[in-house]
Amino acid sequence: MEKRIFNFSAGPAILPEEVLLEAQKDLFSYKGCGMSVMEMSHRGKIFDGIIKEADADLRKLLGIDDSFSILFLQGGATLQFSMVPLNLMPPANKADYIVTGAWAEKAAKEAKKVGTVNIAATTKADNFARIPKQSELKLDPDASYVHYTSNNTIFGTEWRTEPEVGNVPLICDASSDFLHKKLDMNKYSLIYAGAQKNIGPAGVTVVIIKKSLLERSQDTLHTYMNYKIHADNETMYNTPTTFGIYIAGLVFKWLLNMGGLDEMYKRNVEKAKILYDAIYGSDGYYKGTTVPEDASLMNVTYRLPSEELEKKFIDEAKKKGFEGLKGHRSVGGIRASIYNAFPKKGVEELVQFMHDFKKNN
Ligand SMILES: *Cc1c(COP(=O)(O)O)cnc(C)c1O
Repeated sequence: MEKRIFNFSAGPAILPEEVLLEAQKDLFSYKGCGMSVMEMSHRGKIFDGIIKEADADLRKLLGIDDSFSILFLQGGATLQFSMVPLNLMPPANKADYIVTGAWAEKAAKEAKKVGTVNIAATTKADNFARIPKQSELKLDPDASYVHYTSNNTIFGTEWRTEPEVGNVPLICDASSDFLHKKLDMNKYSLIYAGAQKNIGPAGVTVVIIKKSLLERSQDTLHTYMNYKIHADNETMYNTPTTFGIYIAGLVFKWLLNMGGLDEMYKRNVEKAKILYDAIYGSDGYYKGTTVPEDASLMNVTYRLPSEELEKKFIDEAKKKGFEGLKGHRSVGGIRASIYNAFPKKGVEELVQFMHDFKKNN
């Protein structure tokens, strides 16, 4: 088998090797049916089984009951920045946004095109290095919903617990930490996540929506933009991204086989600790870019003493087989994305490399 690199890319990102090998085995002829998943009708019996299993396995993983619909849509998390306000802002036409990074800003920007946006809190003045405290949130009890971003992929911060929003529906962009731990679904009205960070290939976006919210979707909406139409048609209003759903389904089975999301969370905490211990224990050579209590388990961001050293670090790391360590172009520095599928061994080897690099530079 060909050698694989340690892929620290923020997204599209690493997938479990077991999933890739299984997909490879079935690529030419899915379970001996004579065609690949890419070539079969999305309304045929085989694909119907694939999508129903993906739905059932995702429900098992997160404990999602019948009061929610699960949709597998397209357009990335970016389309959700529009679909959320278009469907859910009426009739009050005002919503609260908690701004903790670039993606949250983009979500708020689209919402402003639909109605009144109240920025309930923003940590922009602190370079998004932290998550706001509950006491900082200026929430409107009459808002149509509260939107927040559970993990800030670019800035490397993550909410430890959900914001408390009373009876207002809570909406979460979980694109970069979806399925990294179990959630209390009672707290949520809608969760969306582009697949390419933690659950599958680019092209699929999972939307988990409380069925009671579907009555807000108005007939005047363009058809693809309407959650109710997708829910009524069980994701089959138009041709969904069949291959992406199939791979995401394999990832759900992989997570169940690994012992579920509590086990995954344990591993994620352990992996992140190895890396943060190396950063915080480096006598200031490596500097975390966030306050430690809000540091992300998924995207670990840090700096070196100079930009020249950062460039050298990235170049030398590449030669050792560590890819994707360059921070987002808007912030620089180093970003190690260590999603569910990223092996602990890769984190340990990166830490060893960091230790050697510091000694030599
Ligand atoms: C990557 C990302 C997005 C954008 O996803 P697309 O699929 O490119 O639209 C949105 N939100 C968060 C938190 C992300 O990490």
